[in-house]
Amino acid sequence: MGKIAFLGTGNMGGPMALNLIKANHEVCAFDIVPGHLRDISGAGGEIANSATEAVQGATTVITMLPAGEHVDIVYHNDILPHVPPGTVLIDCSTIDIATSKAVHASAVQQGCEMVDAPVSGGVKKAIDGTLTFMVGGSDTAFKMAEPYLSTMGANIFNCGDGGTGQAAKICNNMMLGIQMASVAEAFSLAENLGLDAGKLFNVVNVSSGQCWSVTNYCPVPGLVPAAPSNNDFEGGFAANLMLKDMNLALAAAAQTGSDVSVAEKATTLYQEFKDAGSGGKDFSGIIELVGKR
Ligand code: NAD
Repeated sequence: MGKIAFLGTGNMGGPMALNLIKANHEVCAFDIVPGHLRDISGAGGEIANSATEAVQGATTVITMLPAGEHVDIVYHNDILPHVPPGTVLIDCSTIDIATSKAVHASAVQQGCEMVDAPVSGGVKKAIDGTLTFMVGGSDTAFKMAEPYLSTMGANIFNCGDGGTGQAAKICNNMMLGIQMASVAEAFSLAENLGLDAGKLFNVVNVSSGQCWSVTNYCPVPGLVPAAPSNNDFEGGFAANLMLKDMNLALAAAAQTGSDVSVAEKATTLYQEFKDAGSGGKDFSGIIELVGKR
């Protein structure tokens, strides 16, 4: 296997690139924030001075960037004009479907093998190499990308054509965003009804209301040892990122004429939480808003 160019070594991309290096891949990384490359050079990866320098001679390019506008610019300015046909392109960023499809079209037109491969799992799973990848692209592109994805993740799903990885990610996170809003409201209602939160927790965990948001990230402190609610909602999955994903879902729904009215309502909670200056806190912190409006 040849050289991998890794663009965007932030919270997620950094540990993902490190796992490729640990698996003896030749990795050349670039990030616009030089401080984000420190771990990579320490681990034996190569550091490039620009994205175009990183992709020179690479047979595979992996991107882990904040949003669609970054992916659009990096692909059209830094990657596609500088790589030969046959290069494997893997975009792991969570972005809007329209941009993802447009980038796929440009890549395919140039004879490259591209997949969108957004992830679920957060920083801990990125470090552990146990991410879930939701992959969209041709079968050939999927087969070529899979060995790299398997090094960084535990579950790799072929979702269909280009853009369907993003579709799976957006639908999953829309469910999570709605789910957490429902859990926050249910625990607030329980309190108003005089029902102890611990007792509700025990019931729900073995009943039909059970879901990831209760079992792993219960917004009431003291019930799930590792939940961000025990730490004033520090760490975890930032409400800003959840808001970004909810807005991606609303945009996708608008484009397809889909009814997502429950998601629209839940999105207002994350927006209010952000507007109150709490966007950096875990998304389960929206329980602080429930009942106070
Ligand atoms: P991050 O902001 O920590 O990392 C993004 C990195 O991209 C930064 O280091 C930034 O400097 C770099 N960057 C921006 N523009 C660039 C450019 N033109 N060239 C090179 N580098 C550039 O974000 P993150 O938390 O690592 O998330 C990355 C993506 O993964 C996002 O799309 C996010 O929605 C998604 N995601 C994040 C999580 C999570 O828990 N953090 C979980 C699942 C998915």
